[in-house]
Amino acid sequence: MEYSGDEFDVIVVGAGIMGSSTAYQLAKRGQKTLLVEQFDFLHPRGSSHGDSRFIRATYPEDYYQDMVLESSLLWEEAQQQIGYNVYLKSQHLDMGPSDSKKLLSVIATCQKNGLPYQLLQPREVAEKYPGWLDIPENWVGLYIGLGVGGVIKSTKAVSMFQTLAFQEGVTLRDNMEVKNIVKDEVKGGVVVVTTNGDKFWGKKCVVTAGAWMRKLVKTVSGLELPIQPSEVMVCYWRIKEGHEAEFAMGGDFPTFTYSFGDSYIYGLPSFEYPGVIKISLHGGYPCDPDNRAWGSGITMESLKQWIKSSFKGLIDFNSPVSTHSCMYSMTPDEDFVIDFLGGEFGKDVVIGCGFSGHGFKMAPVVGRLLADLAITGEASGVDLKHFRIGRFEDNPKGNVKDY
Ligand SMILES: Cc1cc2nc3c(=O)[nH]c(=O)nc-3n(C[C@H](O)[C@H](O)[C@H](O)COP(=O)(O)OP(=O)(O)OC[C@H]3O[C@@H](n4cnc5c(N)ncnc54)[C@H](O)[C@@H]3O)c2cc1C
Repeated sequence: MEYSGDEFDVIVVGAGIMGSSTAYQLAKRGQKTLLVEQFDFLHPRGSSHGDSRFIRATYPEDYYQDMVLESSLLWEEAQQQIGYNVYLKSQHLDMGPSDSKKLLSVIATCQKNGLPYQLLQPREVAEKYPGWLDIPENWVGLYIGLGVGGVIKSTKAVSMFQTLAFQEGVTLRDNMEVKNIVKDEVKGGVVVVTTNGDKFWGKKCVVTAGAWMRKLVKTVSGLELPIQPSEVMVCYWRIKEGHEAEFAMGGDFPTFTYSFGDSYIYGLPSFEYPGVIKISLHGGYPCDPDNRAWGSGITMESLKQWIKSSFKGLIDFNSPVSTHSCMYSMTPDEDFVIDFLGGEFGKDVVIGCGFSGHGFKMAPVVGRLLADLAITGEASGVDLKHFRIGRFEDNPKGNVKDY
């Protein structure tokens, strides 16, 4: 097949946080790399835009905790290299019923990895955060002090990896939609074909197309990945005048999660906009990434009620002052997919997707793993069996978890 432009060692498709981090990792290891994005770089139509994502090490799965610990170091390394900060450290508090299997697994993982934590009884939570939340009597707070955890400035972090990638020699192309990836039967490797008629040759290709992954992979290989795009809303609420400092980043207010049953509320210390705080519900509704509702129809009643009952009048619960729409890419088990595409492509095409609303914090290590797979055909340090595509053939629900 004829192709236009240069030849590359690796072509990365999709320039959200995962593709940008991967491109940087590849170039750092001497790979001639092309990063292709369908929209403008740093656009707000995918999953990686916005001002903040939280990073916490409190996972029930020890493989994620390991990945967060490595990522925390890699975030610090990257920000040192670029010379500005994207990672703000803060305390963290998970709250839930004391007999929650999930919370008990998180505690076990912290113990196993020697991650310092404190279990706070309801009275201790109330004393530590006066004026805020009284958790129910049979609940517990899992508190992690300053160390690993806090907030990543999201769009700034994507931009950081793109800048570092560019400095390492990556070719960056935006407004270039990839419509297919085909095997080069003559020369080996793959040809990446764009909607505007360009064709680029790559020895290898890494696809990190976020919520578009299912569509693109179906076109490329016929494989139906069980990844469901979902539209979610980020909400910012006004803090009562005079109380802003109590909720500010850099003070005692933690990143937090509050979960029971299927409900999961999270919040961050205030820093993005003066006098407001981000508190949102984890989860949304299924969507088509090319035909979105942009948040219309999302009800916030339960979140309003929770803010009303939890913040004792210090946060205006009547309506958010600002909302932003974003997408998750959900797998049935909420575990990532990091694997070779396989089939006729063998190990020439690597995919990273299905980050299920919790991938951002781990982007530095995901980038390292995807680069490892593209360059050497294997990855070290993380057991990728949890992230295989084939797990859905063994069991459509994916990895079995008992919480
Ligand atoms: C509201 C919200 C809150 C979140 N909070 C957290 C959090 O606190 N902590 C955390 O760790 N994670 C969080 N996440 C999850 C995290 O943000 C995502 O897991 C992560 O951003 C996924 O990145 P990505 O690169 O896979 O996807 P994206 O950022 O969507 O990047 C994929 C890119 O591929 C491009 N693309 C698609 N198809 C093509 C094509 N055919 N050709 C060229 N380009 C293409 C898209 O345009 C897009 O830019 C949150 C997500 C949301 C939406």
